[in-house]
Amino acid sequence: MKRAKKKIALIGTGFVGMSYAYSLLNQGVGDELVLIDMNRDKAEGEAMDLNHGLPFAPSSMLIKAGDFSDCEDADLVVVTAGAAQKEGQSRLDLLKINAGIMRSITRDVIASGFDGIFLIATNPVDILTQVVLDESKWPKSRVFGSGCTLDTARLRHELAKRINVDSRNIHGFVLGEHGDSEFVAWSKVTVSVKPIADVIDESPDISWEDLDEIHAKVRDAAYEIINRKNATYYAIGIALVRITKAVLNDENLILPVSSLVENEYPEACGICIGLPAKVNRQGVASILSLKLSEQERVKLANSANILRESLASIGLTTG
Ligand code: NAD
Repeated sequence: MKRAKKKIALIGTGFVGMSYAYSLLNQGVGDELVLIDMNRDKAEGEAMDLNHGLPFAPSSMLIKAGDFSDCEDADLVVVTAGAAQKEGQSRLDLLKINAGIMRSITRDVIASGFDGIFLIATNPVDILTQVVLDESKWPKSRVFGSGCTLDTARLRHELAKRINVDSRNIHGFVLGEHGDSEFVAWSKVTVSVKPIADVIDESPDISWEDLDEIHAKVRDAAYEIINRKNATYYAIGIALVRITKAVLNDENLILPVSSLVENEYPEACGICIGLPAKVNRQGVASILSLKLSEQERVKLANSANILRESLASIGLTTG
C-alpha cells in the first residue's frame, strides 16, 4: 500500500523556522515542506539553499517556497512567525504585536482549506496558542504549542551534566508558562528509574540547594543566550522536529506541550499551558494528570494566573 505523503507548512522562515527546517531535512522528517514568510524572497532563498543539501540528506523531500494556499493539504502547520524576543524584553512584552500577527495567520491558513494540526512556537507561546485556538474555534486537540518542551530539554541537560549521566536518562518536566513563572516538578524527576530524592541522598555531586540553582539556569537560559547571540533557535528547532515526528508518526509520545486544560488540572482550567500531554496524529490526544506536590500545585496556579492576566489584557477571557 502506498504511504500517504506527509506535508509540513512552515510559517516564519527566521532563525527558529529555519533551524526547524534544517533539522527536518537532516533527520529526514516529512515528504514535503513549504516555506511561507511575509518576506517572500527570504523564503525562496531558504528553499533554494535547503534544496542544495538534498543529495546528502537521509531521504528525499520536496522543498519549496509558497503562500498560505499551500497549507490546504498540509498535515501540520508550524508557526514560528513573529517578532523575536529582544535583549531586556520579556516574552510578555511581545504579546500584543504577536497576537495580531497570529490572528491574521490563523485566518489565512484556514481560508486555504487546511484541515490538519496547528503547532505554535512563536512567543509568548502559551498565549499565542490560545489566540489561535480562539480565532480558529477548532477542537482543542488540533491546536497546541511547544510549551515547555525546550525548557524540559534544558533541565535534562543541566541535571545530566551535574550528575554525569546521559541526558536521555533524565526524566521529568518543566511545567507551567513557557516563561519566568515556569517550574520544575521535582517530585516527579527521576534519573533512569531512581527518584531525584534518592539520588540526592546518596550522591555527593548534588544537593537540594543545587536544584534551585538548576531551576534558575533553566528558567533564565533564554536571557543568557540572547545576551550573547541575540536569539535562541537551534534547540527549539530540534524540539519542534521531535514534536513533529510525534504527530506525523502517531507516536503517543508524552511531551510538556501547551494545550487547553480542562478538568485535568483545576488550577489551570480554561487556559493553554505546558503540561505533560500525549501527542499523536490527532495532535494532543490527552493531558496526563500528575499527583503534583502541594508546592507544585501552588506554582502551577501562579503560572496559570499570570497567563490569565495576559489573556485578559488582550481581551481573551478564560472559562
Ligand atoms: P525572526 O525574526 O528571525 O523570524 C521571524 C520571521 O517571521 C521573519 O522571517 C518574519 O519575516 C516572519 N514574519 C513576521 N510576521 C509574519 C507574518 N505575518 N506572516 C509570515 N511571516 C511573518 O525570529 P526567530 O528568532 O525565528 O523567532 C521566532 C519566534 O520564535 C519568536 O517569537 C521567538 O520568541 C520564538 N521562540 C520560541 C521558542 C519556544 O520555545 N517556543 C524558543 C525560541 C524562540
